[in-house]
Amino acid sequence: MATAAFPIPVLPDTTGHFGHFGGMFVPETLMAPLQELATAYTAAQADPAFLTELDGLLRDYAGRPTPLYFAQRWTEKLGGAKIYLKREDLLHTGAHKINNTLGQILLAKRLGKNRIIAETGAGQHGVATAAVCARFGMQCVVYMGKVDMERQALNVVRMRLMGAEVRAVTAGQATLKEAVNEAMRDWVASVDHTHYILGSALGAHPFPMIVRDFQRIIGVEARRQILEKEGRLPDLLVACVGGGSNAIGLFHPFLADENVRMIGVEAGGDGIIPGRHAARFQGGKLGVLQGTKTWLLANDDGQIQLTHSVSAGLDYAAVGPEHAYLQDISRVDYTYATDAEALAAFKELAHCEGIIPALESAHAMAHVAKIAPGLSKHTLIIANLSGRGDKDVEQASRFLLP
Ligand SMILES: *Cc1c(COP(=O)(O)O)cnc(C)c1O
Repeated sequence: MATAAFPIPVLPDTTGHFGHFGGMFVPETLMAPLQELATAYTAAQADPAFLTELDGLLRDYAGRPTPLYFAQRWTEKLGGAKIYLKREDLLHTGAHKINNTLGQILLAKRLGKNRIIAETGAGQHGVATAAVCARFGMQCVVYMGKVDMERQALNVVRMRLMGAEVRAVTAGQATLKEAVNEAMRDWVASVDHTHYILGSALGAHPFPMIVRDFQRIIGVEARRQILEKEGRLPDLLVACVGGGSNAIGLFHPFLADENVRMIGVEAGGDGIIPGRHAARFQGGKLGVLQGTKTWLLANDDGQIQLTHSVSAGLDYAAVGPEHAYLQDISRVDYTYATDAEALAAFKELAHCEGIIPALESAHAMAHVAKIAPGLSKHTLIIANLSGRGDKDVEQASRFLLP
């Protein structure tokens, strides 16, 4: 089936903008290194040796391609649309994060940098970074909020086992935003020999582009797989949105396909009450945070609001600038799922399919559970199962078990 082309320009532009969003809001000392990174990245993408090495690592180290799985029992239970899950949960280290860290460690190697820094919230990006640093024999420092270190103690042990130094950040809310600040501070002082592996499609240009491109493999594979299985493109894509990397990775290869609808699901927390959620498109405003201009949660005086979500990976005050653009041009719809809805979907998928999703991914599943019953049996949905829920079992058990 041919689908009409949706007119999406190639973005970002040369200044790193996606429409009104994105850009490079960084200290002067970082401008040259970011330009250098953009140049090295463009050269790498045109170098067959780089692409071949990355393909080999994605296959043999990370476990790609990931399956596109027909969730038959869940589909029957919901009684409407046909639901496929893109199984990023099966990847090495447990989530899609490894797609990006493998690409960026190869970039660091090209740049001649042998020290890596990263920020992490739930610890998934920290673990994926620690793994590739061990694999390439590079020094690794991960900044993590002290509160997150307590909430995700197992991931701290995993990072340390793989040789990473985990530095506790105690400022402010002592979570992801403060960890990013510390990583940026380190980078300003160490950029001549250090590469910063940013974990989502966020931050200053060229990071939102680089992270998106390394995550596009999700959508490229899903597109090929659904054509093999169903002989046509899907009607709807659904993914959770923290910074937005798993979502943009799935969506991007379908953007020009006018008949493919897309929905990004943010963290609704306890509901859309200031300070109790992390849904930037619900009650957020335009502003600049940590290098990029985008939708974020701030008070009237511009102070960044507290955020809350049951899933640490979605608990961040700003959304990736390309999502802000895709919302602005009405190409992608954004909604939210609350903590309670995500926990219900977490349990339902475990019961129905024997798959325990990450609490982040459970937000996407919650939205699928909401809409699938009202759609026809001929509607094809691909939902991104961005990670596995092993890390969340203890937390979930407090809510779900008697
Ligand atoms: C980190 C994480 C997310 C959120 O990050 P995005 O950049 O929005 O994808 C979602 N799901 C899982 C499993 C994660 O680990």
